[in-house]
Amino acid sequence: MSAIIDGKALAEEIKQKIAEGILKNNIVPVLAVVLVGNNEASHIYVKNKKKTAAEVGMDCRVFELPESSVQKEIEALVDKLNNDKNINGIIVQLPLPRGIDANNIISLISPEKDVDGLGVYNAGRLAMGEPNIVAATPKGILYMLKSAAGDLTGKNAVVVGRSNIVGRPVSSLLLNSDCTVTIAHSKTKNLQEVAKAADIIIAACGCPKIIKKDWVKKGAIVIDVGINRIDGKISGDVDFDEVKDIASYISPVPGGVGPMTVAMLIDNTYNACLKQLGK
Ligand code: NAD
Repeated sequence: MSAIIDGKALAEEIKQKIAEGILKNNIVPVLAVVLVGNNEASHIYVKNKKKTAAEVGMDCRVFELPESSVQKEIEALVDKLNNDKNINGIIVQLPLPRGIDANNIISLISPEKDVDGLGVYNAGRLAMGEPNIVAATPKGILYMLKSAAGDLTGKNAVVVGRSNIVGRPVSSLLLNSDCTVTIAHSKTKNLQEVAKAADIIIAACGCPKIIKKDWVKKGAIVIDVGINRIDGKISGDVDFDEVKDIASYISPVPGGVGPMTVAMLIDNTYNACLKQLGK
C-alpha cells in the first residue's frame, strides 16, 4: 500500500508561506489573467485562481475577451498589461479559441511577468538548465516528488506526454535534478514496458486510467497529472485503486497536482513582484 502525496496539504503550506511573505513585505502582488471565450473548464480554473490569490492577499484581475476575438486584439491586451507597472504577473488561460496562435501570444508576455513560465524565454532557460520562472504544473510536480523522495539523483523517470505545458518542462526539471529521463508519447511503442522500467512515472497524457498496476514497478513513485471528466466525475491518467497497491508513493486526482499548480502560479507571481520591487 503506497503513501499518498497530498497535493492539497502541500499547497496549503506553500500558500501559508506566501501569505506571511506578503504581510511581512507589505505588498499586494497583482496577477492579470487573460480569459478569451466561453470554455467552461477555463472559467472554473480562473475562478479557482482568483479565490486562491485572494486567500493569500494577492489581487487577481481577470481581463475577458469574447470568443470572436482575433489574434491582434489579444496581443494588444497582452501589450497593454506588459506596460502596466501595477501588474506583476500575466497569464493567458489556455486553450484559446480555434485559429489563435497561442504560442505567439504567450511569448509576447514580458519574461519577468510570464508567471506561467511558458513563453519562449522562460521555456528556453529551463531547457538550458538555467531556469528563470518555471511553469507551474512541472514546478508543483517536482516539489511533490522531492517532498516524498528527497534526492532524485540517478532515478529512472518516465514522463508520459510531451506537451509544452507539462511533459517537456517536467522532463527538463527531472533532468536538472539528475534523473535519467525517458519521454513517452502517443507514438511510443510498448508503453507498458517503458513505464514498468521507471522509478518515477509522471502520467500526463489525458488518457483516463491508462497506467495500470501491471505497468508499474514495485516501489515506484507515481504522479498523476491527468484531469479527465467522465460522466461529470474527474479521473486521472492512473488507475489509482490498482496502482496504490504497488507504488511507494502516489498522488491522487483530485487533490494532487491540481492544487499544487495553482499554489505554484501564486508563488511565481509573489516572487515576480518581489523581484520587480527590488525586495
Ligand atoms: P496535451 O493534449 O497537450 O498532450 C498530451 C500528450 O500526451 C501528448 O504529448 C501526446 O503525445 C501524449 N499522449 C496522448 N495519448 C497518449 C497515449 N495513448 N500514450 C502515450 N502518450 C499519449 O495535454 P497536456 O496539456 O499536457 O495535459 C495532459 C493531461 O494533464 C490532461 O489530462 C490535462 O487536463 C492535465 N493537466 C493537468 C494539470 C493540473 O494542474 N493538474 C495541468 C495541465 C494539464
